[in-house]
Amino acid sequence: MPQYKAPLRDVKFLLNEVFDYPAHYASLSNGGEATPDMVDAILEGCATFCEEILSPINHSGDLEGCHFENGNVTTPKGFKEAYAEYVAGGWQGLSHPTEYGGQGLPMSLNLMKSEMMGTANWSFTMYPGLSLGCMNTVMQYGNDTQKNTYLPKLVSGEWTGTMCLTEPQCGTDLGQVKTKAEPVGDGSYKITGTKIFISAGEHDLSENIIHIVLARLPDAPKGTRGISLFIVPKFMVNADGSAGTRNPVVCGSIEHKMGIRASATAVLNFDEAIGYLIAEPNKGLEAMFTFMNTARIGTAVQGVAHAELSYQGALPYAKERRSMRALSGKKDADQVADALIWHADVRRMLLTQKAVAEGGRSMIYHAAKLADNMVNGILEGNQAKYEDYDNQLGFYTPILKGFLTEMGLESANLGMQVFGGHGYIKEHGMEQIARDARISTLYEGTTGIQALDLLGRKVLLQTRGKCIKEFTNEIIGFAKAHAFSGGPLGSMARALIRRSLRWKWSTLRIMLRAAKDRDTVSSSSYDFLMFSGFVMLGYFWLQQAVVASEKLAKGGKETPEFYKSKVQTAEFYFERMLPRADGHRKAMLATSASTMAMDNEHFVMG
Ligand SMILES: Cc1cc2nc3c(=O)[nH]c(=O)nc-3n(C[C@H](O)[C@H](O)[C@H](O)COP(=O)(O)OP(=O)(O)OC[C@H]3O[C@@H](n4cnc5c(N)ncnc54)[C@H](O)[C@@H]3O)c2cc1C
Repeated sequence: MPQYKAPLRDVKFLLNEVFDYPAHYASLSNGGEATPDMVDAILEGCATFCEEILSPINHSGDLEGCHFENGNVTTPKGFKEAYAEYVAGGWQGLSHPTEYGGQGLPMSLNLMKSEMMGTANWSFTMYPGLSLGCMNTVMQYGNDTQKNTYLPKLVSGEWTGTMCLTEPQCGTDLGQVKTKAEPVGDGSYKITGTKIFISAGEHDLSENIIHIVLARLPDAPKGTRGISLFIVPKFMVNADGSAGTRNPVVCGSIEHKMGIRASATAVLNFDEAIGYLIAEPNKGLEAMFTFMNTARIGTAVQGVAHAELSYQGALPYAKERRSMRALSGKKDADQVADALIWHADVRRMLLTQKAVAEGGRSMIYHAAKLADNMVNGILEGNQAKYEDYDNQLGFYTPILKGFLTEMGLESANLGMQVFGGHGYIKEHGMEQIARDARISTLYEGTTGIQALDLLGRKVLLQTRGKCIKEFTNEIIGFAKAHAFSGGPLGSMARALIRRSLRWKWSTLRIMLRAAKDRDTVSSSSYDFLMFSGFVMLGYFWLQQAVVASEKLAKGGKETPEFYKSKVQTAEFYFERMLPRADGHRKAMLATSASTMAMDNEHFVMG
């Protein structure tokens, strides 16, 4: 059973040596409290909570699952106590405003916290994670009464929140939402309809649950332009702020799922439940998507989390389990056979997991800085700053969400593979990681939808290729400085420059083709996303390798072995993983002809 150990050494390397977070926090209007000592204390406190409280109930929570009876949901043993500790520790309000009881720290710290918590126990993390979406919506769009009514208890964690978008007939295409909202006449609305797949929709962890619900007003225009957003509390809120009478929003059942079994996924029936309009009428979808980038990056974290946990499980096993002799001769001569880790193919699997976990983490930490600056734009009332950073984040988001969750899933599978047949057996916990990881490419926008968002929206529609031009120029600018140095850094930098130039040219070719062949946008999108992900991950691995090489030469905060392993992982990435980008490039440059040629009737079985 993988017992989670927070990778604090890697976290501190990224924070202090690669991304200079102390300087970043010093530049933020809400970063004053995030001194290096405070950041260390938060990370260490979070690590202890994750290792001692969340990790031990990860496997048992999977085995037990959630229980449903008469509309009530009970979480697995230990979850209620763990949540109470989470609330008592003040973890929920880490990055939320002090006026509502939060600690007002930069958003990046919350992302770092989520990675640790999610790796230790993704199912548990879903409960406070969904609250975050609810809090952000109320904070951005709620009026003062709504903010004062709901935020203090959401920020403390006493109440939790949900995001109720999906209905039986639609998840991706929310223009088909049918749930109705009828005005009562006193400013409130009666909400009627069924929402499915609602994470944390019903449970026993908190006293009240605040649902954010997409619904249609009478006579609303059809499609996405006629959707409004409502706050619907499970229990109505009394004048003194306490939870009062029950609102008719009832859990009809919970799903029996492949993974994240300790996270309750509810069918919610709204039967004239009282709700309150939030944001402008018919602008609900726009409002919902304001914080979409940060929500999706929150899910990208799941890719890193499962790669990390699966690696933490596979590594000790590969060192202990023995099988045959290494091809280059006996390594553990006094033993019956050599340890798995001596075999090159097992090392390929471990190094792939390590490259995804550590490389993915660095991508998230970079995006987290952009998110901090975006929030600062809001806090300073500086719209231009907010939009600039939101746009930058908007470019990273589909790549991080789509690519990192696909690679996290691959890494989780590799962890099972290292265990051989034992990986398939429940008691080792490795198959749980693969099952838990599977959802990450589906919710919060499937990989296909991330790919369309990247190529169709961000690249073609919104920027006419400018975002790729700017980003590849940034990569080339950085890589150029190392391209002529000897040794591994030089060859890595040159490989990255070649791929960046191809990224730019290939985008142009796809743009020209898309003008005539509309299906190209969809048929090329997945390979475009994966190509982009491999090159972007290369950029972040080169940055780590450059810093580690400097520290190896001049000395740094970590041991020489740590820096050496960074350079070696980067070399592995460039030699063994980055070339996969070339296959995706070839596929993305193909026309849509072979994909679209077959008639629907000819997709026959047998
Ligand atoms: C465990 C779990 C938790 C969830 N939590 C929540 C939650 O808290 N709140 C909530 O509201 N929802 C939640 N969901 C729902 C989830 O977000 C949706 O399932 C997801 O958005 C996909 O929608 P769908 O299932 O309707 O698939 P569909 O939209 O029917 O898509 C089916 C397939 O078609 C593809 N596709 C669809 N449209 C296009 C297109 N235009 N071009 C190319 N390909 C396309 C998709 O990529 C996918 O592969 C959850 C789901 C699960 C399973």
